[in-house]
Amino acid sequence: MGAPGAGKGTQSKTLVDSLSIIQISTGDILRSAVEGESSLGLEAKAYLTAGNLVPDEIVIKIIEERIILDDCKKGFILDGFPRTREQAVALDEILKKNNMSLNSVVFIDVPEKELITRLLKRAEIENRPDDNLLVIKNRLEVFKKKIEGLLGYYKEKNLLKFVDGTGNSPEVNSRIVRALGI
Ligand code: ADP
Repeated sequence: MGAPGAGKGTQSKTLVDSLSIIQISTGDILRSAVEGESSLGLEAKAYLTAGNLVPDEIVIKIIEERIILDDCKKGFILDGFPRTREQAVALDEILKKNNMSLNSVVFIDVPEKELITRLLKRAEIENRPDDNLLVIKNRLEVFKKKIEGLLGYYKEKNLLKFVDGTGNSPEVNSRIVRALGI
């Protein structure tokens, strides 16, 4: 978990390479659905463009269908899910139903000023439609509204690892590896 621009995607990809497990990014799944104009994409497009959360039932269904596939058997990293307490509760139920459980929840912590700088830089490189200042600010607001509930949920379960997300990406990776004890 982490704010937009915290490095969830980058760090997940590095871990995927070193752990030989897969990454499930709800953001990537939704973006490719939008690009492919599938019915999911058509439903999700307006939320993504505005930087709002796609409704819980849609993303929960995505996860429910994804984690039962064969390539998840060895384990997976969830990137960008859950983002609300309701999604976290649903995730627990889905995992239980499939005899799976969470090992750890990593929160990548980056100050807001740094997040905005990173996202604006990414806007120049990647051309993501939601990386413009207005939408970035909304994404950060949405994040702030939801994060306390989520952190509380996982703190209670003793799963939460806080990681300093400043510095370059290898530095952050070593902090995550240390926090996970892997
Ligand atoms: P970022 O964290 O930088 O915003 P993501 O790729 O994780 O990037 O998410 C992009 C967008 O996809 C979000 O603004 C939201 O509209 C949608 N999205 C991704 N994951 C979720 C989720 N778990 N719940 C609801 N919406 C989501």
